[in-house]
Amino acid sequence: MADYYEMLGVARGASADEIKRAYRQRAMELHPDTNPDAGAAEEFKALSRAYQVLSDPDQRARYDRFGEAGVSGNRGSGPAADDMFSGGGLNDLFSSLFGASGGFGGGGRRGPAGPPRGQDMEVVASVTFEQAVFGATLPVTLKMPQRCDDCDGSGAGSGTKAVTCADCHGSGQVQRVRQSLLGQMVTTAPCPRCGGLGQVVVTPCPTCRGEGRVTAERTYQVDVPAGVDNGSTLRLSGRGAAGPRGGGHGDLYVHLRVAAHERYLREGDDLVTQVPISIAQAALGTTVNLPTLDGDEELAVPAGTQTGHEFVLRSRGVPRLQGRGRGDLRAQLLVETPTKLSDAEIALLRQLAELRGEEVGNPDKGLFSRIKSAFQ
Ligand code: ZN
Repeated sequence: MADYYEMLGVARGASADEIKRAYRQRAMELHPDTNPDAGAAEEFKALSRAYQVLSDPDQRARYDRFGEAGVSGNRGSGPAADDMFSGGGLNDLFSSLFGASGGFGGGGRRGPAGPPRGQDMEVVASVTFEQAVFGATLPVTLKMPQRCDDCDGSGAGSGTKAVTCADCHGSGQVQRVRQSLLGQMVTTAPCPRCGGLGQVVVTPCPTCRGEGRVTAERTYQVDVPAGVDNGSTLRLSGRGAAGPRGGGHGDLYVHLRVAAHERYLREGDDLVTQVPISIAQAALGTTVNLPTLDGDEELAVPAGTQTGHEFVLRSRGVPRLQGRGRGDLRAQLLVETPTKLSDAEIALLRQLAELRGEEVGNPDKGLFSRIKSAFQ
């Protein structure tokens, strides 16, 4: 397996930001959704694993000291890493790291059962309209099982170690032989003594009562990519609950709730806004100030533009999550009928109607009352 830093193409002293940038860049090229190459999927998984480790300061420190052995299964540093070698040997180390096939996602497990992975967690995060459009880093806090620091996740009290289960010899499984009509049948079941973990804690850690994890609050800084929409869900692999006794972490799903904007309505990657203008402006043409997400722009409205007319400002909408570019900003013209007219304004409008041969009502009485009186 290649060095994690090499996979990401960064120096060992790279900052968190550099690592993140390098990962995004590389992940985009390799993502299975966009890259049909069979090898790309494997490389993408390996890359994600490298990023998962290097983006977590604790795991990165362990990786720097102990290499891959230091970060497998989210175990602690020194003693835990030693345990791994004293157990099933290098083959088992590799199978626990990479699955039976020696690569990621290799399916079935071989060798000791090992502790199960923690649960996936879910959380709802509120983001502003602008954060959804331009991307943001959000603190997300939730309560969940985390590795017990006092025993480094082993569950064993201080100065003690979990020992290999005498019943299953560390395999976590026991075989039972039964006589059936078809002859002798051998079935495999989780070892009842160690609960399938392969290891037994003799003196439990008092903090976690031997479970190797405790429930506590934790805050993650979550990267929200530009262009997410209400209802988008982000999956943060390995950021969920810790498994018991040093088992791996589940994933964290962050459901995004995007606040509405007072000016813009979102339709996919397009933004829709209304531009109110007066009757005179619509008839004679004008220039209006149009606020966009990138600042104000001047919008020239030609004489005679009808209400509902849509001006399309290309690439002034929301950045597209998949691929490049942005949606459009669609500005819909809304011709506003004037109300609260002064006497002078009424006179002018009457004059206009007369010139155009249009029948108009009397605003003092109201058009409606005039129609009513006509039927009396
Ligand atoms: Zn503990």
